[in-house]
Amino acid sequence: MTDIVFHGGPVFTGTGDPLHGQAVVIRDGRIVAIVPEAEIATVAGADVERVDLHGALLSPGFQDAHIHAVGGGVELLQCNLSEAGSADEAVALVRAYAQAHPDEEWILGGGWSMDHFPGGAPVRTLLDEAAPGRPVLLQSRDHHSTWASSVAIQRAGVDASTADPADGRIERESDGYPAGTFHEGAGDLFDGIRPKTDAELAYRGLLRAQDELIPLGITGWQDAMVGHGTAGLADPLPAYERALAEGTLQVHVTGAQWWVRSGGIEQVEHMVAERERIAGLQPAGRLDVGTTKIMVDGVAENQTAAMLTPYRDGHGHDTHNHGLSFIDPAKLREYVTALDAAGMQVHMHALGDRAVREGLDALEAARATNGVTDGRHHLAHLQVIAEEDVPRFAELDAVANLQALWATHEDQLDELTIPFLQEGLVERQYPFGDLVRAGARLAAGSDWPVSSAAPLDAIHIAVNRAYPGSAQGPLGGAHQCLDLATALAAYTSGTAWVNHRDHDTGSIREGYLADLVVISPDPFGLPASELHTAQVEQTWIGGHRVHDRSTTASAPAAPDMSRES
Ligand SMILES: [Zn+2]
Repeated sequence: MTDIVFHGGPVFTGTGDPLHGQAVVIRDGRIVAIVPEAEIATVAGADVERVDLHGALLSPGFQDAHIHAVGGGVELLQCNLSEAGSADEAVALVRAYAQAHPDEEWILGGGWSMDHFPGGAPVRTLLDEAAPGRPVLLQSRDHHSTWASSVAIQRAGVDASTADPADGRIERESDGYPAGTFHEGAGDLFDGIRPKTDAELAYRGLLRAQDELIPLGITGWQDAMVGHGTAGLADPLPAYERALAEGTLQVHVTGAQWWVRSGGIEQVEHMVAERERIAGLQPAGRLDVGTTKIMVDGVAENQTAAMLTPYRDGHGHDTHNHGLSFIDPAKLREYVTALDAAGMQVHMHALGDRAVREGLDALEAARATNGVTDGRHHLAHLQVIAEEDVPRFAELDAVANLQALWATHEDQLDELTIPFLQEGLVERQYPFGDLVRAGARLAAGSDWPVSSAAPLDAIHIAVNRAYPGSAQGPLGGAHQCLDLATALAAYTSGTAWVNHRDHDTGSIREGYLADLVVISPDPFGLPASELHTAQVEQTWIGGHRVHDRSTTASAPAAPDMSRES
């Protein structure tokens, strides 16, 4: 068996400063030694493949702590507008897709950008011309709005007499008839007629997602929504199971089972049974569903994030709206305590400061009843955290699951969120620096396809809190910026911890799986403002090179899937 030796570049081991002058030796898919370069011959076998890093950084593979991989892959297979640079290009892509898929009754997909259309609202007539007579539903790039054709609107039974739902808004023509764009919860008006993703498409979506994510350096993830009761979407779990059985699941996956809000504590038993069933599948160690996903609140853009203080109206006056707690806080404490006792991890969606507090209160209640467990519970998104709640993350061993790409001034935050929050809360947005100083453990993820999956893009923002070239200063102040090593650690060893895979992934250590990325130029050698120029050159999983940027354009890697772990 050929040994593989990485040499000639710095090595980030998963925390702290990178090592220099060290070589990493791989055998049978695992890291067997980290030695000074001069001593390679003493540990490597006779048959050696040398990988010269040429100064690039070797890092553990990235792990995404919150992603919707199957849905994201399905979107790429459907009518995908994410490459359009203008309204005309978006319409041309719809027309081309319609002509290329004459047998598909529905045209589904997304990726259109609000800023390409007047008022952020594309109209139905554009779709009617591009795809005559066909029902079309296309999600905006940020997944907050739906663009529908006239046929889709008719089939949904929506017309001028349809009222806006409480959590959404219908764009209208002068006579009140829907113009074609449905914001937020108004998109749910199509739930009854939108065809569900079938199992075959979900499976192909998973494979497409791997093709998308592995070149970004991602070697494992936590899927933030598997199981029954996921509205309008196929359950991704059968796709993962099929990929496991067919040997096509290249990454390792932790699936967070969806907590149905209308259900009760009886779900715990079912979730444990699913965890045990999946744990019995082969190959072991590739798929796990020992996590429960609970939505504690909504999102700030449509004022459903649960806040301690009231939202303000467009004139700066207080309203009576504090957002929504999707689960009664007493029930949340009961459920989390039961899940923790059953050995399930809890992954909570918590954006507003009240949701964060309710989540932490639930973890405190669980600890009071169960004592210290190894649940590794985490709270994701964390848009606003009250100062007094920051130290509770470390006290309760709650992991802060960061979507760092969101921690920057941009139009959605500055126009749709900040003006409607109380004065002073801009300083409390995504307070990563405060969490680190308070000793909180960090993990990181993308929420793809809601936002870009590229870890290096998110790391740029985590460090700068401003997007490349932005004229604005760091969101919330420079003291909320992470240093590069901390941001990289969150995306590697931090997420490995959350995924209960810290014993064999997320670090470059002897005995660990050779899940690795090569990043060039070495980001530690770049000024912070240039971090976005670093790229993933190679991705390795289990000692196999599964992506190589220098060759993939013409010949995609065809890895051997026989890794044992
Ligand atoms: Zn999500």
